[in-house]
Amino acid sequence: MHGHPVIDAHVHVHPDRIETLIAVMEANNLSRVVNLGILEVLGIPFQEGMRAFCKALGQRMVYFSAPDFRDTSLGFGERMAEDLERKVEAGACGLKIFKWLGLRYKDADGNLIPVDDPRLDPLWAKAAKLGVPVLIHTADPVAFFQPFDERNERWEELRRHPDWHFGGPEFLEHDPLLEQRNRVLERHPGTIFSGAHLGEYPENLAYVDACLERYPNLYVDTSARIGEMGRNPVEEVRAFFLKHQDRVIFGTDLVLGWEIFENEGQGNVAGFKPFYDAHWRFFETDERQIEYPGFPTQGRWKVDAITLPDEVLEKLYVGNTLRLIPRLKE
Ligand SMILES: [Zn+2]
Repeated sequence: MHGHPVIDAHVHVHPDRIETLIAVMEANNLSRVVNLGILEVLGIPFQEGMRAFCKALGQRMVYFSAPDFRDTSLGFGERMAEDLERKVEAGACGLKIFKWLGLRYKDADGNLIPVDDPRLDPLWAKAAKLGVPVLIHTADPVAFFQPFDERNERWEELRRHPDWHFGGPEFLEHDPLLEQRNRVLERHPGTIFSGAHLGEYPENLAYVDACLERYPNLYVDTSARIGEMGRNPVEEVRAFFLKHQDRVIFGTDLVLGWEIFENEGQGNVAGFKPFYDAHWRFFETDERQIEYPGFPTQGRWKVDAITLPDEVLEKLYVGNTLRLIPRLKE
């Protein structure tokens, strides 16, 4: 069914799990991966981690570094910009922003840092200057912001991870968080952003469509949201992918060696085959009511496959990622 070599542009892989990653790549026809923020988030020294990645994978892996939000005293945006510059010189190809921006990161005075905080402007400007993209994850599934009870469609998952629930009064709601992100897109038209998880609104394709229309500097990736996007009417999903065929990036959110997010039930190499196969089935076939990748982790619903033509698949799997990350071509 599936013959294209594919770039998975959204993974989190610990340097200790490189051997597993290589086996997963070979078993699933992945030519390259984009590894996001794992060194910073787990406190692994940058140079050491990059050396390990480079030695084992060479050009087959690129790395996006994440800023350090532990020191948010005066001038933190400038310091993050300098750190990005150093890391890009040392081989990083992009910047990763985790969802905690807007939800948990605080400044030195204890105030939540909004996504569109002007103190971060030097960081966004630096990414533009360096010619590297920003993979930004803002908000989370809509269900994570809704009441935490058995009517919540992600109830089973939230019961396993109660700290993924953002329905409490201390959190902003889902849509206002995306509005903060949109103000950053607007203010930094020269910075290229990719919105993780279909711009974190796969439940509302019209919203994502409007963002892509309004912000030419925005891409979105497909990671970990086939479940949500595949519930929309199949013709609507297909039309979205055809209309935005130059702006959607293939990624899966494969996790190896980061315990809190380890893909459940897929701990070994063989376990990832059905995970990737479920992606190919969704994008390439016309099957109805199939299991989304990772089913039933997110919820017990099914999805309809969208039958993309070969030239669109090529852009989704490879071409758009090469354009998003100029350093991949080097
Ligand atoms: Zn991720």
